[in-house]
Amino acid sequence: MIEIRGISASPGIIWGKAFVYIDDALQIPKYDIGPAWVVNELKRLQDAIDKATAEVKILQEDSSSKGFSQSGEILESHLIMLQDPQFQADVEADLRQELKNIEWIAYKTFREYSERLAGMDDPVFRERATDIRDVGHRVIGHLLHRRKVSLSNIKGEVILVGRDLVPSEAVAMHSSGILGLAMEEGGRTSHTAILARAFEIPAVLGLKDLTKQVQTGDEILIDGNQGVVIINPDEAARRSYEKSRRLWVLREVDLHQFVGLPAETRDGKMVSILGNIEVPEEVSALKLYGAEGIGLYRSEFLFIQPGRLPTEDIQVKAYAQVLEAMKGMDVTIRTLDLGGDKMIPNLSDTSEKNPLLGWRAIRFCLSERQIFKTQLRALYRASVYGKLKIMFPLITTVDEFFAARDLTCEVKEELVKENIPFDEDVPIGCMIEIPAAAAAADILAREARFFSIGTNDLIQYTLGVDRGNHRVAYLYDPFHPAVLRFIKNTIVNAHAEGIPVCMCGEMAGDPLATLLLLGMGLDQFSMNGSSIPEVKKIIRSASYAQAAEFADEIMRMRCGKEIFSFIKERMEKSFDLAVY
Ligand code: PEP
Ligand code: MG
Repeated sequence: MIEIRGISASPGIIWGKAFVYIDDALQIPKYDIGPAWVVNELKRLQDAIDKATAEVKILQEDSSSKGFSQSGEILESHLIMLQDPQFQADVEADLRQELKNIEWIAYKTFREYSERLAGMDDPVFRERATDIRDVGHRVIGHLLHRRKVSLSNIKGEVILVGRDLVPSEAVAMHSSGILGLAMEEGGRTSHTAILARAFEIPAVLGLKDLTKQVQTGDEILIDGNQGVVIINPDEAARRSYEKSRRLWVLREVDLHQFVGLPAETRDGKMVSILGNIEVPEEVSALKLYGAEGIGLYRSEFLFIQPGRLPTEDIQVKAYAQVLEAMKGMDVTIRTLDLGGDKMIPNLSDTSEKNPLLGWRAIRFCLSERQIFKTQLRALYRASVYGKLKIMFPLITTVDEFFAARDLTCEVKEELVKENIPFDEDVPIGCMIEIPAAAAAADILAREARFFSIGTNDLIQYTLGVDRGNHRVAYLYDPFHPAVLRFIKNTIVNAHAEGIPVCMCGEMAGDPLATLLLLGMGLDQFSMNGSSIPEVKKIIRSASYAQAAEFADEIMRMRCGKEIFSFIKERMEKSFDLAVY
């Protein structure tokens, strides 16, 4: 039995068989062949193409049975590429001329095709380069007799073990049989963690050297509450965790009574509890947890699926689906937040030295205006299906906010000319997630209709700590006085201009932060569904006056550790609240 401690990223206790998922790059051999071998090499290529085609067809059937029309279209384009006579003619000509093994020739041809597309100005063509690489990887994998494992190929219920997941893999977790997650990289607010919580998959991240110690088929236990992973647990450990799991389930049942109740303090102050989503399929679960609207829809997850960019119509469909499902409740859709830790090959600049300080979110959108305008058109077209609010991520200067808002006016004018109906009065908000925006909140508050504090990034940038790097995770502290001062400044200045403040970063769903944020005057808390009942319980157990006093006391403290211990102690003593 081996026990490893990491970062508790998504709560819950689970055990099962490990599946080690490491997608290492293919090693392509290169050697000479004689002219007599050409026919044989072409036959090998045809076999590999046939196998790849059969595999894509199975994936396509699978995705259409699950109702994922977008991935169905992508796979259709892969099938067309696999049957492309031009590709086969190019490979044959090259093979006859170079007389090298077929893996090498096919690899070279796929690479040339994808590089040609990647160099084009049109982002739609650039995106196609990813498909070519994907198809190439599949065909060459068969030539090398290597099965390419993708998350959607995983059969049965497993605990996924690996280094980290890219966002497009992480977002596919909910449609595969993944019971739990144990990864070497990542922190509490990395995207893998956020998605694991959204899909209610217990997860422990930041587990050093994990993949060296686990093999596929090992028994593995995940305690997402304490951030512990046990490989091949003995009988005593298993019994003790069975007990912990029973207690955890009882706690969840107890919290369920708060689902339908309003978030109202004992002295009658109401705040709103909203939900965060990444894909439209999360809406139904969110409603079961009693979300009163959506405070953050991370629209970029529509864009990070491998394949081409979603068209305007595909986007309208996704946004309308969420708006309709929320039946008149507020739905805040954040415009594209690509780049940084959410790179898309051929769209993002993967050569950046400092991606988190680079070309991401609104910066990307304001320079890729066509992509941005298409999204804004889709948002306005969808606005007739419910109560839409739009917000821009990573605003650093008020000029960026103006430029983005001007583009919404341009889009509205276009729609008027085209006689397309839309809601004229969609509130436009500004995310506060860069220290500059929090410090200059008074300026932004005069322009935005609402603020939404993205603490995941605000903490990262305020403290200079990469939110996904487990080595510096100990410094990533939501209770650092600098972070609290930025939050307070944002709220005070927003209220001075009469606009509401939401928080959609992970801190909003942290039960230890609830009373503090309530006391600071936060109007709306937006979080993953499963955090909602406990946050409601805490809000209902205190008075606003008490919470405000509590927050004032905390604002006088000097360091995060002191604040953390004070909160824990006071919640237990004064509010009779045990925080897990
Ligand atoms: C945030 O930064 O707090 C936020 C909500 O955005 P994301 O986590 O998607 O960067
Ligand atoms: Mg952010």
